[in-house]
Amino acid sequence: MRMFDVFGFGLILSAAAFAQPADTGTAHRNAAMALVDSNNRGVAHLACPAETAPIAAAFGPSGGRGGSGGRGGGRGPGGAPPREQWYQEPQQVFDNLYYVGTKDHTSWAVTTSAGIILIDTLFAYATKDEIEDGLRTLHLDPANIKILIVTHAHGDHDGGVKYIQDTFKPKVIMGAKDWAMAALEANPPRHDTDATDGQKVTLGDTTLTIYITPGHTASTLSLLVPVKDHGEQHLAMEWGGTALSARTTKDMLQSYVSNAGRFMDIAAGAGADVVIGNHTEYNDAIGRLGQLKARLPGDPHVWVIGKEGVRRYLTVAQQCAKAYIAIGEGRP
Ligand SMILES: [Zn+2]
Repeated sequence: MRMFDVFGFGLILSAAAFAQPADTGTAHRNAAMALVDSNNRGVAHLACPAETAPIAAAFGPSGGRGGSGGRGGGRGPGGAPPREQWYQEPQQVFDNLYYVGTKDHTSWAVTTSAGIILIDTLFAYATKDEIEDGLRTLHLDPANIKILIVTHAHGDHDGGVKYIQDTFKPKVIMGAKDWAMAALEANPPRHDTDATDGQKVTLGDTTLTIYITPGHTASTLSLLVPVKDHGEQHLAMEWGGTALSARTTKDMLQSYVSNAGRFMDIAAGAGADVVIGNHTEYNDAIGRLGQLKARLPGDPHVWVIGKEGVRRYLTVAQQCAKAYIAIGEGRP
């Protein structure tokens, strides 16, 4: 009996670590959890089904864990929480990349020889304090925002698009189907530029690449952003929509899985070795910003996690989506 128990335990362990798990919710979830580390812990938390999620909740209209990090929850402009709950100091992260997000949601400023490319705009209540004033604190001029890329049309990322558009008049790029979602908002931004898959966005000496990766929303944008650390070249990747819930449709889950795989290969081929998420929880961005502040000369850069770290990050996301699909198809 003892021998049998030991053998059984060993099987469970190897199933969790195996590269191609059985096609069940439990196996995919375990495969994701086996890859969790400080670079991706929040991805598993916000994209994977909770361990106790009832099977019947999958694909249903309600139940399960909600929270795709969207515009709901009364946290939009009408229900702005007190500043001390969300305010985060702006901070330079690479030679040409600056953090101008809150404690919860990120906005990134990429500086180029011809102005600033801004990525995402936070909930509207935080846009002026974090982005406009934050850039000034960093001795950058918000009037130089020439291009704004919006990863997807949820209020925590597109809430301030109208303000940035009206105030600084950049070109605004978003996925076509997310523009359609944004048009339904209370104070919608003016439709500007539809992103295309593989689109090169060049400003001055810097070129970002956009990929359309539906799953979290119908035309979520994921990005590759060249960054430099004391002149040393690195490549940052942003998976532009991450969280899933029991309400995510099967079509979107399948799209999420295939696009995570596609983007994994693109990021690996391009040599991406840095992750910038758009929720701080995904890779403990706030802790990482603090560590970066304490960096001593010669220390490694804590945002550079290597190509393997980038692959793990996207694999966790992909396995979480596969878990939801399997559960929804009755294979818990
Ligand atoms: Zn979202």
